[in-house]
Amino acid sequence: MRRFNITLILCLMASFSVFAQKPIKDLKPTVILISLDGFRYDYLEKFKPKVLNELAKKGVRAKWMIPSFPTKTFPNHYTIATGLYPENHGIIENNIYDFGVVFGLDKRPEVQNSRWWLGEPIWVTAEKQNQRAASYFFPGTETAIQGIRPTYWKEYNGKSPNDLRVDTVLSWLDLPVEKRPTILTLYFSDIDDAGHEFSPDAEETRYAVLEVDDNLKRLVDGLKRRKIFGKANLIIVSDHGMAAVNRNNSIFLDDIFDIEKATERVLWTGEIVQIFPKVNQETKIITALKSQIKHATCWSKSEIPERYHYRSSPRIAPIICSADEGWVLTNHKRFDEWRERDELRGLRGSHGYDNTLESMRATFIAHGSSFKSNFVSEPLCKLLETKTANPSRRFPNIPSS
Ligand SMILES: [Zn+2]
Repeated sequence: MRRFNITLILCLMASFSVFAQKPIKDLKPTVILISLDGFRYDYLEKFKPKVLNELAKKGVRAKWMIPSFPTKTFPNHYTIATGLYPENHGIIENNIYDFGVVFGLDKRPEVQNSRWWLGEPIWVTAEKQNQRAASYFFPGTETAIQGIRPTYWKEYNGKSPNDLRVDTVLSWLDLPVEKRPTILTLYFSDIDDAGHEFSPDAEETRYAVLEVDDNLKRLVDGLKRRKIFGKANLIIVSDHGMAAVNRNNSIFLDDIFDIEKATERVLWTGEIVQIFPKVNQETKIITALKSQIKHATCWSKSEIPERYHYRSSPRIAPIICSADEGWVLTNHKRFDEWRERDELRGLRGSHGYDNTLESMRATFIAHGSSFKSNFVSEPLCKLLETKTANPSRRFPNIPSS
């Protein structure tokens, strides 16, 4: 009996020494930028994730964040990283035509080709200042921008477990100070995936939110064990919201003009369509669209309203169509494919619509030594927009609350 007890004590001591966490005493000012893809601004109240609400309550929360137009994933992540509108940073959509090729999220060689990524993301600024950056995913971190990559980075793989992402970020913080990054990024796609598949109001989306909240608990607990929770600055953002959509609400562009005959190419998403007309076809196409289209707005590039800040990039197509909330731009071929895949039934979710819609509002939460406590900010960046002298730059239709 006595021997058993000694063995037990030795085992406990051994396991304790394995799990004992060395506190980090020499932390430099550090930011962990966390993206929760598709976390609509109202999910905090609606789904009540505990950790996120705690961080929001003790730190800073914006009532909501207005995404840039178009309200898509890559454009908005890169806007968050650079502070630039998509027309200035070059990532004008999730799919882009330039250099004679099409950029897309699943085209890894293009995503990893620096020629698409303009401006200066925050991790490049940090590296230029002889700090180290580390990224467990964030659009733009897989390539050298201005010749500079984050010191530590990962090639995107959506199957990489969220806890592994968190543990890796914590392990980067455990590095000796001269190797330790001071800006780190994390990215979780689950909430966006559930919102698309099941709609923003679904129980499945609630569960995705609560599961990601558990991943954040793991991060917070890891920071607490290292005695740097409250010191390290957490910035938690989303790129856009999510609207409920039934794909039976489709707008068929091939009923309005002959896409095959009149265009060089069309880049589709359900919410934004980029149309590149053949020579001498632009006027014909835009005239047909303007007179016949319902539940969407189409513009020649020069007519896109200034409030979208979506004109100056040469990558923006000569004609853009933007669907009304809940509607889907498509052609008969795409629609038939959805039917075959049984994707017409029930509610799904989408984003990419007008960035002033309530459903597109994104999230901003911050917590740490550089932030106020118990502070709720007015919507970002409504403040900036309403301060501009030109009234046409103001965002309309946003009720103050
Ligand atoms: Zn997204």
